[in-house]
Amino acid sequence: MTLSNSQAAWRQRCLENWGLPRRVDLMRLARGGQGLSGAFAVNRLDRLSEDLAQSIEHTSLPGLDDKGVVWFEVSASARTGRRNTAVLKVQSVLGLTCQRCMQTLWLEVDEQAVFELFGSESQMQSALASEEIEPDGPEPLLVDGPLDLVQLIEDQLILAVPFVPKHEDCQAAKTEAGEPIQTPERQSPFKVLGQLKGDPK
Ligand SMILES: [Zn+2]
Repeated sequence: MTLSNSQAAWRQRCLENWGLPRRVDLMRLARGGQGLSGAFAVNRLDRLSEDLAQSIEHTSLPGLDDKGVVWFEVSASARTGRRNTAVLKVQSVLGLTCQRCMQTLWLEVDEQAVFELFGSESQMQSALASEEIEPDGPEPLLVDGPLDLVQLIEDQLILAVPFVPKHEDCQAAKTEAGEPIQTPERQSPFKVLGQLKGDPK
């Protein structure tokens, strides 16, 4: 994958905070219009790792294009008269197993999610009940204490993984039994010609 300069710079900034992020007070970040970024190895995510073909151990800082790295950034903001919001950007390169050829399929993930922050369950429920929430709008997120950012990041990655991963151009698909590329018993044009002339009956 070729990265643009800005993407490479973004990933480099994330790598400066290597390691699993701690719980974060999103509401406080929003009030200050702040954010945070970081990066960690995908094998730190237990739920997601079950689906991965490649388990990659990173004991030290990986290179820019390294597979199995999760890069993330969350930025929160507050606007007068409106609820606080947070934007989560997640990138990774996940090693999945192609369900056709059973070889590794590298999936480039580049997800961005926007959340509307609710300080309490009751606030969120009443907003949901009064249909204040637009279907295409930000996702409602309950933030009644320090938030587990790792869970939020892992959810985004799990959503990005296809239910049945397959190579777009899979070699196995072309040679699969029962799907021959050419009909083996194709008749020679000369033979057909002979039939057209016909055997007089
Ligand atoms: Zn395949």
